[in-house]
Amino acid sequence: MRAGLFGGTFNPVHTGHLRAAEECAEIFSLDRVYLIPSYTPPHKPGPDLAGHADRLAMVRLAVEDNPRFLASGAECARGGPSYTRDTLLHFRNTLGPSATLFFIAGADAVMDIHTWRAYPEIFQLAHVLVLSRPGQPGCPEIFSHIAAILPKIYTPSAADTLEGKDSFRTIHFFPCTALDISASLVRRLAREKRSLRYLVVPKVADYICEKGLYT
Ligand code: ATP
Ligand code: MG
Repeated sequence: MRAGLFGGTFNPVHTGHLRAAEECAEIFSLDRVYLIPSYTPPHKPGPDLAGHADRLAMVRLAVEDNPRFLASGAECARGGPSYTRDTLLHFRNTLGPSATLFFIAGADAVMDIHTWRAYPEIFQLAHVLVLSRPGQPGCPEIFSHIAAILPKIYTPSAADTLEGKDSFRTIHFFPCTALDISASLVRRLAREKRSLRYLVVPKVADYICEKGLYT
């Protein structure tokens, strides 16, 4: 079993997330991709953060027609702040030792990862798929950054794959289709009562409208 674990605020989930996850599933032969909205994002408190229940409900609506995608409430069930290291441990325990885990994160998130709790363990618990993102650093910068924050473990390479030493796993840079869509853009448009069509799936657009989110 090969599982993708895609964490994020998902405030709200948009087609940039969904298309990137679909391409990861296809190219890395993932049997499942879990989309896991963070419960209390330690780095992102803010007035326009929808509640976890709403963000998870939107992820459920967004994945319902994709047999490989699953919405996960794991970060709510545990409560407290969401640390990726704990989430990866949860999936390792739930899916068992034979599962191959891939933590999926965008380039912007990875450039920040040294500020995350127990970040080295993230690279031991799962392979990492780094998604390209418009306006964000590309593969050479990402790999230099990783080599700088985990110096004796990863050595920068010109390839799109970094092998780790000891128990550290492989990091893949994945150039997904460039969709310059962000949740910030979706929230701004919702606030301005503008169309969200083609940025989020129709059921998510309806949910935002019916619940009056981000207004
Ligand atoms: P916000 O604008 O609120 O920061 P966001 O669009 O960045 O929202 P997040 O929930 O923060 O969405 O993102 C979750 C993960 O998905 C992050 O690792 C982020 O880098 C990645 N991601 C988000 N949008 C894209 C995109 N368009 N292309 C590739 N990766 C993306
Ligand atoms: Mg973001």
